[in-house]
Amino acid sequence: MCFHYSFNPIKITVMAYKISDECVACGTCIDECPMGAISEGDIYSINPDECTECGTCASVCPSGAISL
Ligand code: SF4
Ligand code: SF4
Repeated sequence: MCFHYSFNPIKITVMAYKISDECVACGTCIDECPMGAISEGDIYSINPDECTECGTCASVCPSGAISL
């Protein structure tokens, strides 16, 4: 059997914080993000192209819903 792996260095080197379904949509994180990377919703979301991994949102989230 032959396995083929596609290698994309951008996918490997660029990470972003993610918001899990533990989000209670309190809105705290969106005001703290310096990049404007967070969007509102039933569950908030982070745009991985804008997140710089500063970690601010994760430190202020009362639900512990944000992690790498
Ligand atoms: S880690 Fe920083 S840049 Fe990324 S979404 Fe959270 S506050 Fe914004
Ligand atoms: S701070 Fe946490 S619980 Fe509040 S909106 Fe952001 S991810 Fe959701």
